[in-house]
Parts: sequence; C-alpha cells; structure tokens
Amino acid sequence: MPEGDTILSAARRVGAALVGMPIVTIETPQPRHALDRWPERLGGRAVCAVDARGKHLFIRFEGDLTLHSHLRMTGLWGVYRRGERWRRSPRRAWLVIRTEQHEVVEFDGPVLELMTDSRTRFDRRLAALGPDVLAAEFDERRFIELLRADDPSRGIGDVLLDQRNVAGIGNMWKAEGCFLAAIDPWRRLRDLADAEALAIVRELRPLMQASAEGRRGGRRWVHERAGRPCLRCQTPIRARGQGDDNRTTYWCPSCQG
Ligand SMILES: [Zn+2]
Repeated sequence: MPEGDTILSAARRVGAALVGMPIVTIETPQPRHALDRWPERLGGRAVCAVDARGKHLFIRFEGDLTLHSHLRMTGLWGVYRRGERWRRSPRRAWLVIRTEQHEVVEFDGPVLELMTDSRTRFDRRLAALGPDVLAAEFDERRFIELLRADDPSRGIGDVLLDQRNVAGIGNMWKAEGCFLAAIDPWRRLRDLADAEALAIVRELRPLMQASAEGRRGGRRWVHERAGRPCLRCQTPIRARGQGDDNRTTYWCPSCQG
C-alpha cells in the first residue's frame, strides 16, 4: 500500500512533468467518470502546483479547480516520456494527462474527484487529517492533543494508522517506527508517555523523507519478517492482525518488550 513517502515522491514527479507545461489532452477512461466532462472543464488550464498531504495527492489547475486523488491499496502514479511503455495495462488507467513530453497516468485509483480549491480546504475528510508526518515542520503538539483525544484503550500500532491522528503513516512504516523506538505496537495509549509516541514519529520522519527523495536504502527490521530472527537480538519476529481493519503488525517481543 502506498504510504506518505510514496505519495510525496509521486507528487514531485507529477509536478515536474505538469507544472507550467501546456496540457495537450486529459482522459478519464473509466466509465464512472464518463459524464464528468473533465476534459472540457480542464481544457486550456495550466497546472499551477502538485502537492501531497498524507496519502492524498492534489493537482491544482488555474481557475480554482483541483484534482484530488487517493490511491487506496493498489493505486500507482506513473510518469512516462511520450511513447514509453506503461508499467500497468491501459485498462487500469483512471486518469491520463498528456503534455508534449510526458504522459502522467493514475492507475487503479478509486478516489479521483475534481473539486474547487477552496473545497479542498473545507472538505470534511481532508480537514480531519492529522499533522502530516512528512511536513517540513511536524506539529508535535497537535499530534499529542489528537492522541490524547483518542480512545485510550487503542494500541499505538492501530492509532498510528488512523490518518486523523497523523497523516501519511501506513502499515510498513508503522511497524518499523515502533521497532526503532523500541515500543510494543500493542501498548495501549493510556500506558504510553507523550515522549514515547513522539519518539516513533521522530524515528520515522528522516527515513520517510529520504524515501520520498528516492534514497530508499536501509533495511526492514520487522515488516514482513514474521518468524525470522530479529536483526538485533535473534528473537523470532511476531506478526498478528491489529485494529478494526486487522492490518498485520510485526514486532520483536524482546526488543519491543
Ligand atoms: Zn529483537
């Protein structure tokens, strides 16, 4: 599943291809968007900016119109030179924006909507997002306020995936962050100090920022390593579904005891 770092990296690539470039065509191949007339509504408008917030991506056009997208579990943004082969089948494309040099394609993107720029500021779901883990300045105070307003019986692993507490963390980074801060993802909020919650985010921010800049690097300590020896202490890594969505969480019972 794409997490905030993947979306920020996509926003930078999409922005580099579109901002300030004349748009040649816009297509919405899926039947769901057949009546939306986006090509007519967006025709002749330039893209002013492309930005990300958490796992949401925004393509902002001149004249107060913004395309908002969320990739959910399987979506992907592709940026190709004209004529280059796409990484997924054209049948899976939801949005295709062409300039003279590039094709920008959203594949498998079930959340795709055109809204006014002002609505992106007042939209209930977007307004409810917690501070962005990838923001240049992370609002730690707000994050702690939101955490303390949440159900104190929730495990921190579950809490971190709730985009209303902090935006941009997905299942992989959640598990890695808890490991790096030596915190058991099953610890309940009520048993977690503010400093411990902040330690997880402080561990994650530089790693996710590096990833967004294409510097992948670094090992995965626990994610998808169930049953294999911990890279620090050799204890077998454990895995179990957590939270309402039953997302698998991975942890070392010794390092994160
Ligand atoms: Zn360990």
